[in-house]
Amino acid sequence: MKRRKTSSQKEILELLKSSESALNHEMIKKNVSDSIDRATIYRILNRFCEDKIVHKIVGDDGKQYFAFCINCESKKHNHNHFHFRCVGCGKVECLEKEVKVSLPSDYTMHNFNGVISGFCSNCS
Ligand SMILES: [Zn+2]
Ligand SMILES: [Zn+2]
Ligand SMILES: [Zn+2]
Repeated sequence: MKRRKTSSQKEILELLKSSESALNHEMIKKNVSDSIDRATIYRILNRFCEDKIVHKIVGDDGKQYFAFCINCESKKHNHNHFHFRCVGCGKVECLEKEVKVSLPSDYTMHNFNGVISGFCSNCS
């Protein structure tokens, strides 16, 4: 039992790691062994988020996407980058380019999570 759990985790982690775009539950389910059920995928993904291995993106389509964290320090799990969702191919990616956000002067920003949708370079 314990061994199977570990290998499911590993399989999902490898998938997220090797994917150049963020993945939603459906995409993950399609690309892992049939023995890994939906509930397990949910549980493992939440665990990865807690462990600061992946970050969650809520798309403008209302779906949750998960992306592997590249440079999260152990304490800081901040993702001050926008995400881009292509309405053509459905790809969701992390935009590396830093975006400046201006807030009212007495507000302090901790984190932001923005999604831009449109067409990616392959689809435009
Ligand atoms: Zn992170
Ligand atoms: Zn596209
Ligand atoms: Zn991201």
